[in-house]
This record gives sequence, C-alpha cells and structure tokens, in this order.
Amino acid sequence: MVQPTLMYGRKYQKGLNGITAIAMTAFHIGAVAALFFVTKGALLAALILYFVGGMLGIGMAYHRLLTHRGYKTYKWVEYFLTFCGTLALEGGPIFWVATHRIHHQKSDREGDPHTPREGTWWAHMGWILTGEGLHHDAAVLSKYCPDLCRDRVQVFLSNWHWVSNVIVGLGLLAFGGIPYVLWGIFFRTTFGLHSTWLVNSATHLWGSRRFGTRDDSTNNWWVALITFGEGWHNNHHAHPVSARHGLAWYELDLNWIGISTLRRLGLAWDIKVAKIAHVVTTEHQVMPAEEAVA
Ligand SMILES: [Zn+2]
Ligand SMILES: [Zn+2]
Repeated sequence: MVQPTLMYGRKYQKGLNGITAIAMTAFHIGAVAALFFVTKGALLAALILYFVGGMLGIGMAYHRLLTHRGYKTYKWVEYFLTFCGTLALEGGPIFWVATHRIHHQKSDREGDPHTPREGTWWAHMGWILTGEGLHHDAAVLSKYCPDLCRDRVQVFLSNWHWVSNVIVGLGLLAFGGIPYVLWGIFFRTTFGLHSTWLVNSATHLWGSRRFGTRDDSTNNWWVALITFGEGWHNNHHAHPVSARHGLAWYELDLNWIGISTLRRLGLAWDIKVAKIAHVVTTEHQVMPAEEAVA
C-alpha cells in the first residue's frame, strides 16, 4: 500500500480555506453579539451545552474514547457521546480522530498538523484557516481511522456532524429566542473552539513538564480548567492511552471524573490508567508506560 504523505505543516499552506474562514468569522461575530443580549436563561443554556459538547463529547468521547480507546463502553453509549461531540462544532469524529492521531505520531515534528514550532498563531487557529490539515484524503482517513471508517454510525455522524447544532439552535430559538441562540450556539461553540485550540497552542508552549517526552507538551492548569482536564497535556503525551490525564490529586480532571462515573454506573470498563505510584488504585487496569497510541 502506498503510504499517504502528510503535508500538514505551515510550509504546505495554500491560502485561505474559504468556507471555514466565513463560518469562523460568522461565529465570532455572533459570539461578540451575544455580549449585548445577556439573560440568565441564555447563560445557563450555554453552560449546559458547553459541558455536553466539551466534556461528554470532545473530552470523554472524541479524545479519550475514540482516539485513544482509553476505556470500553457499550456502542449506544459511544454513539450518544459522539453525538454530543458533534455539538462542539470541531468537525466529525473521523476527521477529528485522524488529525489527533497524526498529532500524536508526529508531535512537534514534520507532519504535525498544528505545532507551535511553526508559530503560536499557526498552532492555535492558523492551521484551521489556512492549513492542509483540514483536508485529509481517503487514504489518510483509512490509515489512521480504520476502526471508525468501518463503523456505519460513526461515518454517518461524521458526514452529518453539523446537523446537531442546527437542531439544537432551532430548539433554542423556539424556547428562548435570539439571546439563547447567540449564547447557546455562537458564543458557546466559539469559546469551546478556542479552548480546544489552546491545547494545541498553549500546552505545547507554556506550563510545566513532569515527563521528558520527545515533544514540547506541558501541563497547564488554566487550560485544564476550561477543557475539563485536557490541559494536563504533558501527562497525556507521556501516557496517551490513559483515560486519566490529571495524575496528581490537585490536577482537576473532570473528564476523568465523568469516565469514573460511567464505570460506577456499569457503563465503562477496561479503563487504562497511567502508572504513577501514588494515583493507581487496584480497581483499574494499569497501563504499561511504553504502551503506544493507536
Ligand atoms: Zn499535543
Ligand atoms: Zn491525545
């Protein structure tokens, strides 16, 4: 089989990704407009949807379940959480997982879709606006996501990932009017996008490094706070399959608390947890330190 070439670095950018740039501009304008339509109900709707899309969806599903298979669950739970992930407006699960698996394979080296070594702004949003990382071809997807490409439901959710926000947006419009849409859709997704992008930019630049990984990943508490624990990114690069990223008691990791809750409900099992003496408990499967990402 011919190996797909990963031409994702900054030097391969070919100009503006038109539709993405228009959508991003519109969502940022909507997010600013929301500041002029503040109501308690609209703020609450945005907060709830932020948890659903960012924690249940991106952290617990797209990242720790689909990308790294850090735990096992029933298919219906996987599909439900993946649906939640589409609400974050970060693309379908197959695109997201492929991009992130490539990031782990090439971290801060040639082929990484978003390394700050090519510029802070590039790693944050530039790669979305002008990079080739948005344009995976079929060969790349089937190489990096054979598991998801075989799953018809995941393919469906990937093809129609934007529909969930249309449905929720219409529901918000009917329930609370324009303020609910501005906060619940525009502000909430824009804030969530920047939070996730900070994991690509800030936690490859600023923070502390517990593990001497080959990349520049860091642990950063304020990124962890707004991403439900994804900011413990140096822990994560050192132990990519671990479903737990906050490894010390003071490293708040709400995504891990969510996965633990699933386990208590009987909805998650075979949970991989990084082997650090003071956090591993006997009830969890201990992950070998050298275990590689899928
Ligand atoms: Zn990283
Ligand atoms: Zn990862």
